[in-house]
Amino acid sequence: MADNKPAPQAFKKLNKKEIKALGEKLLRQPKTVWEQADAQTRAAIFALAEEYKTFMDQAKTERRAVAAIRAAAEKAGFKPLGSKAKGGRFYAELAGKTIALLVLGQRPVAQGVRLIGSHIDAPRLDLKMHPLFENQDLAFLKTHYYGGIKKYQWFARPLAIVGVVCTADGRTVEINLGDAPDDPVFTVLDLLPHLSRKGQEGKKLSEVFEAERMNLVIAGLPLDGEGNGDRIKLAAMQLLNQRYGIVEADLISAELEIVPAGNARDVGLDRALVGAYGQDDRASAFASLRAILDLKNPVAPALAVFYDKEEIGSEGMSGAQSRWIEHLVAAMLTANQEPTDYLTISRALAASKVLSADVNAALDPDYPEVHEKNNAARLGYGVTLTKYTGHGGKYGASDANAEFVAWLRGVWEKAGVTWQAAGMGKIDEGGGGTIAKFLAAYGADVVDVGPALLSMHSPFEIMHKADLWSSVQAYQAFFAAK
Ligand code: MN
Ligand code: MN
Repeated sequence: MADNKPAPQAFKKLNKKEIKALGEKLLRQPKTVWEQADAQTRAAIFALAEEYKTFMDQAKTERRAVAAIRAAAEKAGFKPLGSKAKGGRFYAELAGKTIALLVLGQRPVAQGVRLIGSHIDAPRLDLKMHPLFENQDLAFLKTHYYGGIKKYQWFARPLAIVGVVCTADGRTVEINLGDAPDDPVFTVLDLLPHLSRKGQEGKKLSEVFEAERMNLVIAGLPLDGEGNGDRIKLAAMQLLNQRYGIVEADLISAELEIVPAGNARDVGLDRALVGAYGQDDRASAFASLRAILDLKNPVAPALAVFYDKEEIGSEGMSGAQSRWIEHLVAAMLTANQEPTDYLTISRALAASKVLSADVNAALDPDYPEVHEKNNAARLGYGVTLTKYTGHGGKYGASDANAEFVAWLRGVWEKAGVTWQAAGMGKIDEGGGGTIAKFLAAYGADVVDVGPALLSMHSPFEIMHKADLWSSVQAYQAFFAAK
């Protein structure tokens, strides 16, 4: 059959109404979540955001996120994996920094699980092993940045210290200083504009703000008494010792994270947006948590994994490159009284459908030139499907299979989910990756799905409340689909 003839309608003159109808039939019609939402849905969008902000305030580090997720799971009847639980609802943890929730389904685990993987680590400042020093009558902690930060955003702002110190006698001391109204905060000093002409202005951004100058001010009063030198450092250590029972050497076995002080806030006169630290990727984590907590008796067994270390390449025992997922699937098989030989585990993984729940970059109204507007995520247009990430010629990408993307579209269309598809930025502008490729390595179908953010990786990331709600809808539909 020859297909080089023009279509017959090309010769038929259409009226305005016919052109409109044809456009509606054949072309994509992006719509905002809000404009399609009825009054009840609009109220639900705002109610969800309240719950979300509370979660964000409790989950400023991966360890605190694990604690918040565990508490929510226990409240919803989930039991530790390995025990007995009604409805096959379990959770499992690794090193206190990654957690998984699962719900057994009507289908055997061997036929594949429905997995949503998010990450609960976020860019921040960590402390060096020997952080404490004194300089010019102030005591400081030396930091080491974690993940992709724009360093200047961390100078001259109130910061909190959150994390744990582990002592050689087996105690784990929790520190959470800077968020309570009466707490002191901490800060990294910046140079005044009056004196920054030579040292900062005219230099490249990457050279102006140096990691080794990112020292956290923690004290300014000396110990009373004789002796010169380091009396402020000693006084600061004495305060830490009195309050937490720790000594300087304990800071070697510590994971203290320096994060922005303050709570998640509504942004805008109409409160359309949420501004908070760590929404990449705790927004997706919260949405997938919401989705699995509400899941009852699904057809396919469901698994939500909340990973650590995504921001530094998913490395280490608590990152998505670890083999914990194999252990989890084996434990799910055991819980469902199925065989756990290697072939069954690897077949179950390969037969799984996976959403890499991670955020994308929304089209930035002030910097539209870094986006390609036909393929950019737009704030408020619903959860974003990102078929592939990576950089340049798709390097480092896990490019989702067309068949899987089509299946997911069908699931969402049936469930009435408002969603959009987008890449991240113009080609060759930069790029990024997610956990998608590490789970794809098992032969599972994987695609990235999550809300789009503005000011991503900054201390105050911005999300549209309707996109969070849409993300929950998208994850719920994925879990519930046959
Ligand atoms: Mn992320
Ligand atoms: Mn990130």
